[in-house]
Amino acid sequence: MSRVVVDVDGVLADFNQGFWELLSSRGAKLDPIPPEGPPVWEYFKLLGASTEEVKAAWAFIKENPAWWGSLSPYTEALELRPLLLRLFTAKWCVIMSTRPGSRKAEGITRAWLRGHFSLPAHVPVLLVENKAAAIFGLGQVTAVLDDHPGLGQNLRQLGTKGVKVYQPAWPYNSNSISHRRGGLEQMVKEVLGE
Ligand SMILES: [Mg+2]
Repeated sequence: MSRVVVDVDGVLADFNQGFWELLSSRGAKLDPIPPEGPPVWEYFKLLGASTEEVKAAWAFIKENPAWWGSLSPYTEALELRPLLLRLFTAKWCVIMSTRPGSRKAEGITRAWLRGHFSLPAHVPVLLVENKAAAIFGLGQVTAVLDDHPGLGQNLRQLGTKGVKVYQPAWPYNSNSISHRRGGLEQMVKEVLGE
């Protein structure tokens, strides 16, 4: 038995655009996000947000976990719905995200995935603080589909072997350790063995 771990933000959901809009709506004066995506992980500093504005936005999200439900899915991911549904059903798939906001955020994330991607009810949705540690703890994980630039290195440091890290290619993860970077379609097909 093998497990496949799939991330939400940066893979299926456009967190960056949503967070940019939240900061803007709360008065932050920001430069636009480059069309190819943020160049660095903490892009909001580069776009002109202050530390206080970012902290306040996170506090808002923690108090209003329904905000997670307002994020837009990526067009590419929506177009791949049938393929993603095969991934969700063909493997022992686990959805894993670091979204804060307790059990409410978990339910909202599940509802978002069901609404946009028809996520089957049996697929676990786990919100964790430390993703590498959670993957290590799950065991038998053979593939992870995640955009975080530090995940490959964090997994290596834990001594995990045989976990392939597939990363949607964004400018901010261009230098990270991964088994494969690229388009969602190609990577999901490879995870499915197609
Ligand atoms: Mg992510």
